[in-house]
Amino acid sequence: MSNVEFPNTAIGLPSDAAERRAIPPVICYPNETLPKPNLPQYLSARETAQKTDEVLVAPRQAACFRVAAGSFFRITSVEGPQVGDLNLWHSADLSERFFSGKTRALHGTHVTAGERLWSSLPHLRPMATIVADSLGWYGIDSYGGSVHDVIGTRCDPYTGNLLAGGHYHHCCHSNLTRALADELGTSLAEAERHVHDVLNVFMCTGFTRDTGQYFMKASPVRPGDYLEFFAEIDLLGALSACPGGDCGAEHTSDSAACHPLLVEVFTPDDTVLDGWQSPARNGYDGSHGRS
Ligand SMILES: [Zn+2]
Repeated sequence: MSNVEFPNTAIGLPSDAAERRAIPPVICYPNETLPKPNLPQYLSARETAQKTDEVLVAPRQAACFRVAAGSFFRITSVEGPQVGDLNLWHSADLSERFFSGKTRALHGTHVTAGERLWSSLPHLRPMATIVADSLGWYGIDSYGGSVHDVIGTRCDPYTGNLLAGGHYHHCCHSNLTRALADELGTSLAEAERHVHDVLNVFMCTGFTRDTGQYFMKASPVRPGDYLEFFAEIDLLGALSACPGGDCGAEHTSDSAACHPLLVEVFTPDDTVLDGWQSPARNGYDGSHGRS
């Protein structure tokens, strides 16, 4: 919201302004008809799963990992409170990537167990389903804050430069760019175009009620807290351990205490997923009204 006072436009203030403001909102996307994950089946599959991979993400760095459809991955805070910025792609087609904005429109500003991360158009299908969230107890605090948001974008050096000048190189955007370039064996420029708006794992955020501004506050995450996902499609992931640490004070600098994050992959017995199928691409015919 701007602080600048603009003169009233010719049409002026309506005489029924109060009544207009009092109109109750309607939910843009009632989500009762979304295809539902079979959580009991996922949880029984999880009981049979064995750890098949792990990656430790160093503070102020990012790392990539791969998860086959039908496997699980868990992000755990280790050593100290730390926020992570997560990107996901279809491992065989990087043009299909996590769609933070539509996930927000479908599920709300923050996500938790039972909700899903959706992919970009024209795919728009679940990429991953959250099966466990040890911070599910947090709920929504008195400031309107909650954890695991899909409202922030990722800290990046361009916004940092715009607001404060300088060239800070360990924002999540740069960390993700370097990690993806190393994973794919491409240039930084080629990798950068694939980096997208994130799921802010463990980050505690909201919008201020008076100015509508994006806020952050110290994450409630403690060592051992985790967020776990079931991979609905073959995934390439990248996770950045944000330079903001617990994001209680600032980011885009080296001033915050930062800690590593652990990513573990668990693969279940094939038989327990009998009947489960990786979701197909979205059913819209793609004609956009032309034959
Ligand atoms: Zn960050």
